[in-house]
Amino acid sequence: ERAEAATAPITDGALADGTKVPLLANLASPDDAPAAVQLGAEGVGLFRTEFLFLDANTAPSIERQRDSYTRLLQAFPGRRVVVRVLDAGADKPLSFLTDAHEQNPALGLRGLRALRVSEHVLRDQLIALKHAQDASEADLWVMAPMVADAEEAEYFVRLGKELGLNTVGVMAEVPSLAVVADQVLEVADFVSIGTNDLAQYTLAADRLLGSVAGYQDPWHPAVLRLVKLLGDAGAAVGKGVGVCGEAAADPALAVVLVGLGVTTLSMTPAALADVRAALAAVTLEQARSKAAAACGARTAADARQAAELAG
Ligand code: PEP
Ligand code: MG
Repeated sequence: ERAEAATAPITDGALADGTKVPLLANLASPDDAPAAVQLGAEGVGLFRTEFLFLDANTAPSIERQRDSYTRLLQAFPGRRVVVRVLDAGADKPLSFLTDAHEQNPALGLRGLRALRVSEHVLRDQLIALKHAQDASEADLWVMAPMVADAEEAEYFVRLGKELGLNTVGVMAEVPSLAVVADQVLEVADFVSIGTNDLAQYTLAADRLLGSVAGYQDPWHPAVLRLVKLLGDAGAAVGKGVGVCGEAAADPALAVVLVGLGVTTLSMTPAALADVRAALAAVTLEQARSKAAAACGARTAADARQAAELAG
């Protein structure tokens, strides 16, 4: 019986009523691709590219980046692979791009802000990604981290398209982006919510600081309501709104996120099976009523409980 379970085909993510919810993997190296496929990842929802840049004094060459991205994409023929351009700064400092002496690095020159100042680094990365797009059968989506508004989104999308990329979007990590989600989705092909940073910024609690760890909870109704703004804006124009933060790996929260309008979930591959099972147990109507109950709660703990009791 055990051996049978181990070889049983892994089904794609779906709710009990058949609503599809693609389940994707968060990866940080092309070496992790085979294991993710083994665990049933339908594609990649967040490929963190920082590994190529860490411990370096300069950006890696276009050729070196191209080879790495191509190796990743070739592991997912016909599948979606979402690659995030370099997210330097704050918890991911990089000597040649960011200033280690900032007083509040999480509120400083990080993510797309840092790349915009050193645009040659961004251009080289997008050129390398275009080469990888041409060299594989995967469906490459490219997104930028730490985007605050529609002007920044438009800058990134325009540059990406100019350099030949097919699908270009942004991460929702700064609360301002969620507030103007309708404007952002006019220019971006998709949005992917980074709940780790979104919770940090919504609750003004440093994600690296243990003393405020209690505030860093994606179940907080304020975070959930921002997710709903994004989900509603995506539905209004028929564009995808994914989640690629840790929240997607919490099975009960994954259900609530779908109820808020999230269309794909990306997580550490080890969490895929539990999230798949939780989604299969509810209808979209139930997920929506759990989401509404959670949004009406006053604390993260109450939201979790309200979601469990609703539906
Ligand atoms: C996030 O902020 O939720 C996210 C996915 O990005 P990172 O954890 O790499 O900042
Ligand atoms: Mg982030």
